[in-house]
Amino acid sequence: MSVFSFSEAHDFLRHELRKFAQKEIVPGAREESKLDQTIRDLVRKVGDAGYLGVNIPAKYGGMTAEWVNWVSWGITMEELAKADPVLGLAFLMPMIANQLLAKSTDEMKQQWLTPIIRGQKLTCFALTEPECGSDAAAIKMRGVKDRDYYILTGEKTAVTLGMYADVAIVFAKTDMSKGIRGTSCFLVPLDLPGITKSPFSDMGLRAAGRASITMDNVRIPAKYLLGEEGQGFYMAMEQFDFMRIGLGLAALAQAQTALEETMDYAKQRIAFGQPIAKFEAVSFKIAEAATLIEAGRCLCYHSFSLIDQGLSHTKEAAMCKWWCPRIAAEIVHNCLLIFGHIGYSEEHSISQRFRDVIAFEIADGTADIMKIIISRELMGREFRPY
Ligand SMILES: Cc1cc2nc3c(=O)[nH]c(=O)nc-3n(C[C@H](O)[C@H](O)[C@H](O)COP(=O)(O)OP(=O)(O)OC[C@H]3O[C@@H](n4cnc5c(N)ncnc54)[C@H](O)[C@@H]3O)c2cc1C
Repeated sequence: MSVFSFSEAHDFLRHELRKFAQKEIVPGAREESKLDQTIRDLVRKVGDAGYLGVNIPAKYGGMTAEWVNWVSWGITMEELAKADPVLGLAFLMPMIANQLLAKSTDEMKQQWLTPIIRGQKLTCFALTEPECGSDAAAIKMRGVKDRDYYILTGEKTAVTLGMYADVAIVFAKTDMSKGIRGTSCFLVPLDLPGITKSPFSDMGLRAAGRASITMDNVRIPAKYLLGEEGQGFYMAMEQFDFMRIGLGLAALAQAQTALEETMDYAKQRIAFGQPIAKFEAVSFKIAEAATLIEAGRCLCYHSFSLIDQGLSHTKEAAMCKWWCPRIAAEIVHNCLLIFGHIGYSEEHSISQRFRDVIAFEIADGTADIMKIIISRELMGREFRPY
């Protein structure tokens, strides 16, 4: 196992991100009443500053070479998600587009990838369907070739940014008889005839505009097929490792913010004539939370450094995805209890953090599915449940 440490370039990136986030993101982060504007504005600001291009080579609108690595991308995810948790989900999208549009033409990259990386266009990732989430191989959306077009029919659901995105990366079956080898990946502009969207009323991360997207005979030019027909399932799976590590860090960022707010509160809240921070039932919870956050961050950055070194990382990515959101949710829960009755109020930021953090436990695969992956990697495919 390699030992991981941050370079000077990493420290500088974090420093710059913190300055940027404090000035540009944090002041508008919780304006949930202005939903559409908020997420568009935030992504645009991050794009304008160039941070959507971290770990993307400069020729595609990315960043300076010293930040073209996964650890830098992880730092960016952590700092943006700390400033606003919705950015924890939204920041995944330009990287997914970058990876999948790599398999398309230069014209498509110019038309779509460049504005996505600049934050001028929003994209979303549409895999889950009403009848299948964990079992992504079972999707039913159809993509039928018709001369120079594909015609898409079916329903995608749970799509982050679905209400606001300009374009979606959509997975559909182009050959129902071939199972996962019949799945293909498409770029679908969301203003085409036949597309309808309906929003979810979510308990947290409301500005993410999670939606169901229905496609009724939606006709897209054949050049909007990304990669080859039949490669779509593998293309989707290739995205999950980095997404899972990133969401681990995004969840921990919620725990860290909650912890900082809780420490401030515990130092000034008086009970029985003393600040509650002096009671071990409070201070030990804080100590335990800080320990768990540090351990989780080490796991996530170690996992990103494995990708940077070209080493196997699927097991570690799944570990990040089940464990970090789980401990983050427990930490935020404990923090809420330290705030007492005031933390239970909808108006208090800690209750919103509690509602937000649970999203990271479900999005991109539940803990149960991650444990199937980890045990498969440890013991071999022959011991998978199916
Ligand atoms: C905030 C949020 C954002 C999301 N964003 C997106 C997005 O942008 N794009 C997208 O495509 N999807 C998105 N999703 C969907 C997400 O990926 C799925 O919800 C997730 O994969 C689980 O699928 P499901 O909800 O259909 O649950 P199911 O697959 O129905 O599972 C239900 C329960 O059964 C358990 N279970 C299922 N199979 C097994 C098994 N084999 N062994 C043990 N337990 C099992 C699960 O762990 C879970 O607890 C998002 C979800 C959330 C909450």
